[in-house]
Amino acid sequence: MSSYDVAILGGGPAGTALALELRRNEPDLKILIAEADIATDWRIGETLAPGAAQLLNGLGCWDDVMRDGLIEGVRSEAAWGSDRLHAHDFIFSTRGSAWHLDRVRFDETLRAAAEAGGVEIWRGARFLSAVAESETWQLSLDRQGRRVDVEARFVADATGRSARFATSQGSRRCFADRLVGVAAAVHLREDAAADHATLVEACEHGWWYSTVLPGNRLVLAWMSDSDIVHHNSSARLGPWLAQLRAAPLTAARADMAETAERVFTWPARSHCLDQPCGRSWVAVGDAVSSWDPLSSAGIMKALRTGKLGAFVLLDAIRGVEGAGAKYRRLIEAEYRRYRRDRRAVYRMERRWSGSAFWQRRHAAEPFDREPAMHSAGEP
Ligand SMILES: Cc1cc2nc3c(=O)[nH]c(=O)nc-3n(C[C@H](O)[C@H](O)[C@H](O)COP(=O)(O)OP(=O)(O)OC[C@H]3O[C@@H](n4cnc5c(N)ncnc54)[C@H](O)[C@@H]3O)c2cc1C
Repeated sequence: MSSYDVAILGGGPAGTALALELRRNEPDLKILIAEADIATDWRIGETLAPGAAQLLNGLGCWDDVMRDGLIEGVRSEAAWGSDRLHAHDFIFSTRGSAWHLDRVRFDETLRAAAEAGGVEIWRGARFLSAVAESETWQLSLDRQGRRVDVEARFVADATGRSARFATSQGSRRCFADRLVGVAAAVHLREDAAADHATLVEACEHGWWYSTVLPGNRLVLAWMSDSDIVHHNSSARLGPWLAQLRAAPLTAARADMAETAERVFTWPARSHCLDQPCGRSWVAVGDAVSSWDPLSSAGIMKALRTGKLGAFVLLDAIRGVEGAGAKYRRLIEAEYRRYRRDRRAVYRMERRWSGSAFWQRRHAAEPFDREPAMHSAGEP
């Protein structure tokens, strides 16, 4: 059985940031990233918020990301609170320049940087379960259809919104909403005007965003609650196109592109784990807390918590106590601030007082918990 100092489950921005930071501080650590995906054509989440350049620079991969081709200096406009367009700064981030990127390529570039730094990466390896032994974790993975066991002293959960490892250890996701995104990526027509702005448009049952990616692809995403989407059958192409026609600014933009033939549904609920780490594990990125895409800050938060998670594990490796408690306080405080800001932004839109989507966001926020899961303890 292969044995590692640290096994990182999930090779998105959070997992790779954590790996890169660990290697920068302890080059001799034996690190594995187990990433479930092998190849995907398109992933949603394409705006890199202001401030991300410093984080990526610190991880030593900003030049690689730039080389991939970014759309720079992207502005953002919104019809929010009225049907008139106005400038809309990246709501939860510091002001400044944002970038649009090809998300599949971005994630792969970060993984390649980690690999070049000596991190072992298994693509197509899905974490299934974990058992705590005296000083190590026995992890069971599905590696391209084959069950493989590995041993690790420390584990990082970077599996995204599913928080697959943390929830298997009894940590619970506390949800704040039921948001989903139903989205398509289509090619812009050759004669389409070059407008790279992100456009956000509120509508009766949610809101739309549209954005242009490198390679002249237009992403169109309708954000609403899962029960509303289900009720209107809007996860299907026909009803989704009907919703699009109810958002005139976004529909006009869609007219400059080929017609969508397929739509995909992406979970987008906000949540925070009630237990972000244990004695020999830490959760980072969307696994530890996930934010509304309205913030355009998910990637940046993934990079930041990935770096912080590395320091939590480094202290645990060195036998220094207290880092886990600090991390927990920081994650909770950040999530509280995020929810306060989010509520203020949603309350700026008052046009559809009869709509369940907006009523939920104007009311005092519910804070649901998942039913308790089993706790397997920790070494
Ligand atoms: C509709 C929508 C639009 C968004 N737009 C933006 C945006 O414009 N800007 C922005 O900054 N953020 C955006 N986000 C959020 C952003 O995509 C996430 O916050 C970010 O991807 C989090 O990074 P992560 O590494 O934590 O998780 P992920 O990127 O989800 O990576 C997790 C990785 O773990 C892998 N994995 C999952 N389960 C397992 C398993 N069991 N074993 C092994 N591997 C596993 C997955 O394949 C994946 O590669 C958006 C999100 C949504 C839903």
